[in-house]
Amino acid sequence: MPDFPSATPDLPPASKPASKPKAVKKVVSTETKLARLGLRTDMDLVLHLPMRYEDETRVYTIRDACLRGGESWQVEGVVSKCEVSFKPRKQLLVTIADETGDLLLRFMNFYGSQVKQLAEGTRVRARAELKHGFFGAEMVHPVYKVVNEGAPLPTALTPVYPSGEGLSQHVLRRAIAEAMKRIDWTDTLPESLLRQMQLSPFQAAVRLLHYPPQQIDESALMDRSHPAWVRMKFDELLAQQLSLKRAQYARRSKGAAALPFVGSLSTAFQNALPFRLTGAQARVLDEIRADLRQPYPMQRLLQGDVGSGKTVVAALSATQAIDSGYQAALMAPTEILAEQHFRKIAAWLEPLGVKVAWLTGSLKKKEKTASLALIESGEAQLVIGTHALIQDNVQFSKLGLVIVDEQHRFGVGQRLTLRNKGDSAAVPHQLMMSATPIPRTLAMTYYADLEVSVIDELPPGRSPIVTRAIDQNRRDEVIARVYAAALEGRQVYWVCPLIEESEALQLQTATDTCMMLAEALPALQVGLVHGRLKPAEKQEVMDAFIAGQLHVLVATTVIEVGVDVPNASLMVIEHAERFGLSQLHQLRGRVGRGTAASVCLLLYQGPLGGVARQRLMTMRETTDGFEIARRDLEIRGPGEFLGARQSGQAMLRFADLETDQWLVDQARDVAHELLHAATPASAATVEAHLARWLGNKEEFLKV
Ligand code: ADP
Ligand code: MG
Repeated sequence: MPDFPSATPDLPPASKPASKPKAVKKVVSTETKLARLGLRTDMDLVLHLPMRYEDETRVYTIRDACLRGGESWQVEGVVSKCEVSFKPRKQLLVTIADETGDLLLRFMNFYGSQVKQLAEGTRVRARAELKHGFFGAEMVHPVYKVVNEGAPLPTALTPVYPSGEGLSQHVLRRAIAEAMKRIDWTDTLPESLLRQMQLSPFQAAVRLLHYPPQQIDESALMDRSHPAWVRMKFDELLAQQLSLKRAQYARRSKGAAALPFVGSLSTAFQNALPFRLTGAQARVLDEIRADLRQPYPMQRLLQGDVGSGKTVVAALSATQAIDSGYQAALMAPTEILAEQHFRKIAAWLEPLGVKVAWLTGSLKKKEKTASLALIESGEAQLVIGTHALIQDNVQFSKLGLVIVDEQHRFGVGQRLTLRNKGDSAAVPHQLMMSATPIPRTLAMTYYADLEVSVIDELPPGRSPIVTRAIDQNRRDEVIARVYAAALEGRQVYWVCPLIEESEALQLQTATDTCMMLAEALPALQVGLVHGRLKPAEKQEVMDAFIAGQLHVLVATTVIEVGVDVPNASLMVIEHAERFGLSQLHQLRGRVGRGTAASVCLLLYQGPLGGVARQRLMTMRETTDGFEIARRDLEIRGPGEFLGARQSGQAMLRFADLETDQWLVDQARDVAHELLHAATPASAATVEAHLARWLGNKEEFLKV
């Protein structure tokens, strides 16, 4: 059987069918295709488990299959007609017949060899969904096989594997079967543990999942509650827990410079603040301060909803490092945000005699050289910047504390690099900040190695934000709201739609919107900020907005994170249906920062899909970031929620954090026992298990 795509979507007829340019085909080896799926070793292949199964153990008569309709059935018949038709487009039409009736097999894409292969008189087994088309029953792009009469049927369900471009099930199956012959099947877990936890042996479980016997409980296989699945999930979770806990112990055994002094600078700074810390800020600050005094590196995640006041906590942590004679670094994901931090924190600290340096990619060469010198000599006590901070040429003199703002915007590797900027003997303390709360179940599994502090209170005097979803053909009313807000001396953000396919188009839309608003509201000053502006230009627009010279700021999503202009009280988001929940929450968080009642208008274009509707409803119902994250998790599932960037390679493939919580708990306990036992046997178990399940991927979990 040739390898060909078993289901090709129906394409509309090409506009110029005559002269299709011949694409130059690149030959990609099977090995490369497998590697793209992360399948590099034999064990990778063996642990590449089916996502579902197909039943090829039965053949239905054509009549039975037609009567049942709908689902996918396997039929067998002899080709009675095979022709290439050109109307309405080129396709291969094959009719097969058995003693009960006949059936059309339709191929929109096919090779010349298939026409020969399916010549009249050939016997084929075909399997696909059955459709009732204009000419009677048909299968479109069935999976088929040429067979002899009486050819034996498979006795096991046929696995269907997650696959990638140009990689057929057939090739995958063969590669997996070969790998199964080569690997060492020794169970990584001792008998006693298997008995105690009532787990299936590894080899039996894996074999069963790849080749389930005919008489198996299919529903348990499908919903992954079968003991064989449970073993896989347990193993996966155990590997994750072992790795996280080991990283935690390793970190504790590494030295860090203790930063014991909350001295004159910290005190003076806190006294000079124009506000009192909220109870929650004070509490998390205490937690951080206690960690910084320890001689091993802090690794703490500071979670606080947008506007909860994380920046000042970061600055107060930095002063403890400075008071103790060390440098601190603060890294932010965008230039706008880094610059805002720099201005705000420098304004707080420079009057108290602290030297704050500033480093971004867009600095002129001379300024950059000057900053680098300040950082290297140690004269700069606090360094604020973007990714530029992690470049090779940045040398710190005595880096004691690393702070990463909006940490979820950085890759694992980037955070690691900044942490490695300390001297080799001591790892700097690390504080990560995020407004995107990680639900508890996730925090426990993915961040077993992190301490978490939560600011669960907003500064006083904030009024809640009212959120409305409005059909975009009511845009005129929205423009009237913008005008009314400006008359009251308030400022407005107008966020342009996300156009993922095209940055140019996104820019165009933003420019158009800006002109439209300027025209509709001639009395108002309207500014525009987007990602293509040079940093200096961006800053100029932001400055004008901060100074109140602009009433309306039209923006692309560059303002998503961190921007803080308390006088802005109206947020308009166009095509809100295109944004994800956490992004909407971040955007909305730009308003409601002052005392004025704030409003967020979500303009949408109907009709809304189910997920988009759920998102907008969530936004209307709550402004609580934790609740939003919880619902986001519900809507999207944990895989997407964290994204590969967040979790390194650590995504769970088999276990589901919602339904398998009980297994997470068990895996955690077993991991704890194995590591604590510290006998040669338990150490060997740990090594073997990690090697099997994580291989070389473990590094990623350690950051
Ligand atoms: P986020 O947690 O989103 O980073 P910011 O640190 O930007 O929030 O703080 C939001 C705003 O609240 C800033 O203008 C900040 O100065 C102000 N703020 C922070 N803490 C307090 C407080 N305890 N009382 C009053 N205002 C505060
Ligand atoms: Mg912030």
